[in-house]
Amino acid sequence: MENLDWKNLGFGYRDTDYNVRCYFKNGAWGELEVSTSNRIDIHMSATALHYGQEAFEGLKAFKGRDGKIRIFRMDENAKRMQNSSDGILMAKLPVEKFMEAVRIAVKKNERFVPPCESGAALYIRPLLIGTSPQIGVKPAEEYLFMVFVMPVGPYFPEGFKPTDLVIYREYDRAAPQGTGKYKVGGNYAASMYEGKKAKENGFSAVLYLDSREKKYLDECGPANFFGIKNNTYITPLSDSILPSITNKSLMVLADEMGLNVERRKVPYDELAEFEEVGACGTAAVISPIKGVYDSDKDKWFKYGEEPGEWSTKLYNKLRAIQYGDEPDTHGWVEIVE
Ligand SMILES: *Cc1c(COP(=O)(O)O)cnc(C)c1O
Repeated sequence: MENLDWKNLGFGYRDTDYNVRCYFKNGAWGELEVSTSNRIDIHMSATALHYGQEAFEGLKAFKGRDGKIRIFRMDENAKRMQNSSDGILMAKLPVEKFMEAVRIAVKKNERFVPPCESGAALYIRPLLIGTSPQIGVKPAEEYLFMVFVMPVGPYFPEGFKPTDLVIYREYDRAAPQGTGKYKVGGNYAASMYEGKKAKENGFSAVLYLDSREKKYLDECGPANFFGIKNNTYITPLSDSILPSITNKSLMVLADEMGLNVERRKVPYDELAEFEEVGACGTAAVISPIKGVYDSDKDKWFKYGEEPGEWSTKLYNKLRAIQYGDEPDTHGWVEIVE
């Protein structure tokens, strides 16, 4: 096992030993290849570079107390990448090939999977890019799929800590019928400006309103939004938000814990009614939110300095399944053999 300061890794790029690659050429996917290089060689006119023909995924593997490594819901990531591929006209990687590439990347880099006690995990980054040259706006004919991994520290090294979100009506992350529902790099480029502004002003992320009417809540920059009130877990339904696998999982767990679950349009005014608010995604599972600041109206919605009861229960439950401390009754984890 690698000797790293697991608890203080943070979330940043770090080289590991191997990555896995697969090339699409002449209308077909090739075999999975293992590489030790962190470089790729692509044409300067590759569609990924100038027209943003790129999609990515993010998932994690966890080492349990039993020493086993578990990968969480990777079939969902594989399907979501296929959906992103359909959305921006890229070659679609078969689900089984995606999962095999992830398994190989994790297994080959096993010494980088953090020990259970650290609360850290192995972050897995699959990506798919158009590699062949085009100068007219057209999809590439060749693609590269890759999986690389890196150990990342616990998201909350000092414990589960609430942060603040900010609403800026002058920025949109995605158009109403645009690419917001696909996990593509373009959405991230489009959100960096206001994301940086939010951080500089002390907020953890932007909470976007729907870009058509600015009446409903959409999602945070890199995470879905949920609110809890009257024993109900409520999360926005919208054409421009990315379907988070964490959110999907939390909805199942919330239901099992006896909460009602509603996925529907969430009017802005409901911010005043929530008892708990959170952002959810692979990175943090749940980031509890203590306040939402509406910068246009100079108005605060406050949810308390400490994480709410249900957010804490949901967080603990999902983490327990991921680390193998509780039985995986839904078939969400695959143990790496
Ligand atoms: C990846 C992502 C999420 C979180 O999805 P998970 O599958 O839970 O990690 C949420 N919003 C956006 C915009 C994303 O790109």
